Amino acid sequence: MADTTLPIITIGHDGRTLPEFITLLAEQGVQFVIDVRPQPYSPTQPEFGRETLAAQLPHHDVRYVYMGDAFRAPPTDPTHQHTLQRLHKAHSQGWRVALLGQPALPQDCPRGQTIGRALAQQGLPVWHMDPDNALHPQEAISQRPTTPRPTAEHYLHHVFGYTSFRPLQAAIIANAVAGRDTLAIMPTGSGKSLCYQIPALLLDGLTVVVSPLIALMQDQVQQLHALGVSAAYLNSSLDMDQYEQTVQAVRHGRLKLLYAAPETLVQPRILDLLASTPPAGIVIDEAHCISQWGHDFRPEYRQLAAVRQRFPSAVCMAFTATATPRVQHDIKQTLNFRDENEFLASFDRPNLHLEVLPKADGISQTLTFVRQRPEESGIIYCATRKQVDAIAAALQHAKLSALPYHAGLPTAERTANQHAFIYGETNIMVATVAFGMGINKPDVRYVLHVDLPQDIEGYYQQIGRAGRDGQPATCRLLFSLGDVYTQRFLISQGDETERPGRTQRLDEMLQWAQSTTCRRQALLGYFGEKTAEATCNGCDNCLQTADSLADLTVAAQKFLSCVKRTGGRFGANHIIQILRGSRAQNIIKWGHDTLSTYNIGGEYNQQEWQFLAQQFVQMGLLTPHPEHQTLSLTAEGEAVLKGQAVNGRLPHQAEIAPTRPELSLPPSHVDLLDQLRRKRKALADEAGYPPYVIFHDRTLLEMAAYLPQTLDSLGRLHGVGQNKLQQYGEPFLGLIRRYCAANDLSEQAYNQPTAVPTPPRSSARGLNIAQAFAAGQTMASLSAQYSIKQQTILGHLADYVKAGNPLPAAQLQAETTLTPDQQAEVMAAFAKHGTDYLRPIYDALEGTVEYEELHLWRMIYKMS
Ligand code: ADP
Ligand code: ZN
Repeated sequence: MADTTLPIITIGHDGRTLPEFITLLAEQGVQFVIDVRPQPYSPTQPEFGRETLAAQLPHHDVRYVYMGDAFRAPPTDPTHQHTLQRLHKAHSQGWRVALLGQPALPQDCPRGQTIGRALAQQGLPVWHMDPDNALHPQEAISQRPTTPRPTAEHYLHHVFGYTSFRPLQAAIIANAVAGRDTLAIMPTGSGKSLCYQIPALLLDGLTVVVSPLIALMQDQVQQLHALGVSAAYLNSSLDMDQYEQTVQAVRHGRLKLLYAAPETLVQPRILDLLASTPPAGIVIDEAHCISQWGHDFRPEYRQLAAVRQRFPSAVCMAFTATATPRVQHDIKQTLNFRDENEFLASFDRPNLHLEVLPKADGISQTLTFVRQRPEESGIIYCATRKQVDAIAAALQHAKLSALPYHAGLPTAERTANQHAFIYGETNIMVATVAFGMGINKPDVRYVLHVDLPQDIEGYYQQIGRAGRDGQPATCRLLFSLGDVYTQRFLISQGDETERPGRTQRLDEMLQWAQSTTCRRQALLGYFGEKTAEATCNGCDNCLQTADSLADLTVAAQKFLSCVKRTGGRFGANHIIQILRGSRAQNIIKWGHDTLSTYNIGGEYNQQEWQFLAQQFVQMGLLTPHPEHQTLSLTAEGEAVLKGQAVNGRLPHQAEIAPTRPELSLPPSHVDLLDQLRRKRKALADEAGYPPYVIFHDRTLLEMAAYLPQTLDSLGRLHGVGQNKLQQYGEPFLGLIRRYCAANDLSEQAYNQPTAVPTPPRSSARGLNIAQAFAAGQTMASLSAQYSIKQQTILGHLADYVKAGNPLPAAQLQAETTLTPDQQAEVMAAFAKHGTDYLRPIYDALEGTVEYEELHLWRMIYKMS
């Protein structure tokens, strides 16, 4: 009976129904199906799950066994070899054997090919079946080219609708997909999710994402659904039915991503579930929770190391935004990661504009700030609940869309307010620092600190919530001495052991707020990042040009001499009372009405003097006493009394016009944007999503700017992947078409990817400088003429080039100090890494070339 001359055959189930498959087996006389798929299920064809096959095939006299796991090991591994021998044996006993794979085309099934080659070498023929049921020998199939698998870029473009990767994303994805456990340390908003979502799509099977934040899981799952990716979560917020549904979805391989809380994941039941369908990837989000040194340690996270070991074939990825080296080390050690698989991104967030302004009256300054930004979403941080309530009430009174959030509100109200903010029903969240953890809203356009934050780490975390979508956002801090006193007082009332640490952190915060150099550089320096450029063109200190400042010398002299004459024993309010000729008891009692500085400051009112005084402190002319609320002169302040000039902001010009460098819309398109927003809100409400899940602001802005008329054109815009195009394309197109018809407008050419330009920040002066350089002046001569640093000139030139203007390459090259060899290396590095970021170039050259030179050479590269 046994016919051992018949070959083993391989069959892919893609494109076949289960009855068709069973008929095929009968036609071929197959008696034994060996399932060699990497996963015992099919996301698209649940009837090809292991359980169904095991139940169905015996009814047709076919034995079934799943052996995919045994082939997981490399071909040289004993397990692999042993399984091959079993195949051999089954065949020699006369069984007619079929190997089950997934892909329709045999050349696309790597397992089938490896096994086929190995058995052919042992003299056992393997034939492979095409979709038309014809069988072909191993040699014929191995000649065929395989169908290319989708790449990471494919998913980036077609699922997410983005044009390019952000820094490190591509490298992290490639590392993980190559099977290496990967740790990525990236700041908030840098795009961590994409770094594991794309591998999840690339890997065969399920990726489990551990996350401690329930709200965040829900948000991620919603966003993935809108992108057309199958995802779900398991945590304590689900009812029994939902929970059971998700468990079934996992069991039948219907999910690409499963989010789970750590305490859920470590339950024996869930671990067993996963053991039955081993995950291809394990992602640990917020990985700093593993470390006892982190500010957010969670004991359940410790157990994740064991979970990771239980699924050795899965690739593990860990993510955190926490920058301290100690925590990073701890994560690597706990998870047993290798150093070379660690990716540390720059903590710079170039789209955040940083500024510090003196605080005179927090409420009115807040009102002005917010009124300049109608329609924009923002967070206003206050130090106390009382302040939150006061500011929220003032904004509401002014008919602005604001809600409060702090721990003193009833839970229901807090949740409702947070929901309203995320779902775009209210624009402004006025909050204590209790707000923000796990807030994924990408379109927060500003973070305003009405009060001084306690430390730089907290401050950085809070401003990190702005501009996650990469679009420009403003981070403004209102600085006041009074806040410093309050904080010091609070520290003195707090735990004694914590005092020195808290005081030091407050001092660092203070120093940062008072500094006159680049704020970004100082901030990054605080996190140990030795970067780049001395000026960033994105903070108040860098953008402030001498001509934008007023001469405050006289006011400063009045104030400072009054401080000096009263012996440095009084606070700002007292000094202001003297300057303004107050008859208050306090002034008379001290005899301060007899001072020569009495009543010489009538040109400013009390609040304006406050504003100036804060500014003088911020400039370092005055120093606040660490314990008493008094001010005294610094050496710098003494110099002012001797005639050194002071330049700064006048109280009434405190408001810098908002930097709104978004893609600017022609006036005739503005109404359309409004209509698009309303459409988005309606669709979002219908789906139960926050509006940004449907489309980001930038996508709407691009629609309004370019007026796409077809699905094709719409699909080219930022953030429009295939699924969103299909789901939401037509409603938006309809709206755009109607608007165009009514207003006699037509589609505009879309020039990606830099269609949404970064702000042309160059001032009139910058332009003059660049033009003078183009006309033949050197940097040295310009530096002397304008009395500014060469670095600043370089910045102006870079802006000029960025805006699309040419500069003569030869003339730029004349400014370099690099040797010809170095020059060639730099050019090669730009050719390899592109010109978007300098950090990779700097690293590629191992730090041998300074950033200033790299700025210069980037221009030369672009011009040649
Ligand atoms: P993180 O988790 O690092 O805080 P997210 O993963 O939430 O940041 O990403 C922040 C935002 O950036 C999201 O809205 C995301 O869609 C967007 N984003 C991520 N990668 C890209 C990219 N390559 N191009 C454009 N936008 C991106
Ligand atoms: Zn700067």
